[in-house]
Amino acid sequence: MAEILLEVKNLKKYFKAGSQIQLFKKPFYEKYYLHAVDDVSFSIEKGTTLGLVGESGCGKTTVGRTILRLYEADGGQILYEGKDIAHIPISSDKTYTKKIQMVFQDPYASLDPRSTIADIIGEGIEVHKLCKTKNEREERICELLEMVGLNREHRNRFPHEFSGGQRQRVGIARALSVNPEFIVCDEAISALDVSIQAQIINLLMRLQKEMGLTYLFIAHDLSMVRHISDQTAVMYLGTIVEIGPTEEVYQHPSHPYTKGLLASVPLPDPDYEANRTVRGMKGEISSPINPKPGCRFADRCEFATEKCRAEMPKLHEIGNGHKVACHLAGETK
Ligand code: SF4
Repeated sequence: MAEILLEVKNLKKYFKAGSQIQLFKKPFYEKYYLHAVDDVSFSIEKGTTLGLVGESGCGKTTVGRTILRLYEADGGQILYEGKDIAHIPISSDKTYTKKIQMVFQDPYASLDPRSTIADIIGEGIEVHKLCKTKNEREERICELLEMVGLNREHRNRFPHEFSGGQRQRVGIARALSVNPEFIVCDEAISALDVSIQAQIINLLMRLQKEMGLTYLFIAHDLSMVRHISDQTAVMYLGTIVEIGPTEEVYQHPSHPYTKGLLASVPLPDPDYEANRTVRGMKGEISSPINPKPGCRFADRCEFATEKCRAEMPKLHEIGNGHKVACHLAGETK
């Protein structure tokens, strides 16, 4: 049986929000909670990729950042090789900052413009004391640059001298510098041109094969997620609404939201594209602040019933490892 590297169980992350209101001429502070991640569970087998998709604001980046412990979880567990790391502060234990790395969304903003590429990639090597001598560090940096398709001469340059795709390669080399096992790719290709996106995806897949890496691949581009992911999870307003083996989810989507997302992927045929309609989804994503009881998707779902508005549907298996959180799973077209 394949080994589970990461298991997230009932993860919760809420953010406090609020506003000042005037009541009987007195100012009151009203407290709200933004339910960014609400009872999210999934597991990822070693050497595989879980694609996490959804519109912006659905909580997928917060899931990634909470796994990295950049945010402290408000509930649930993050089991890494069976050990709950959810409440281990980064400052007190560097083991998991080495094992778990992140590739950020914006290759323009995530690299310090005043540092050379060697300094950017070498930082993690120094923090974790991975090289004994200056020469060894220099060699390791050159090796990492070559691994991501750059060359050793690039090490003395600055980020502004590179294209977006090259900067993202530097971001990947920086993540690899500490020999991680697990990488959270947070919208790692979103800021790049489509042709460059494919190159970065191919690079990530090659590195995964060569180094046995495990990925959480966060994105809103469904076509790229399909290409790289073994499992796909669809998030809506802080919850996972559908999850399963990628081809199963893409070929037999069951949740109205997943169907809507898949139907909104642009098609190469302009005539077909102009005439098709997206069934099941209307309006905009609702507010995640103090969400109403019942299904979070009910305001946008054309199939919503009384039960949907009263009772939150739970993820349940519909076959082949495919799980859906919808009261009408299998009954909607
Ligand atoms: Fe739509 Fe109801 Fe299913 Fe929610 S539970 S997605 S409202 S049919």
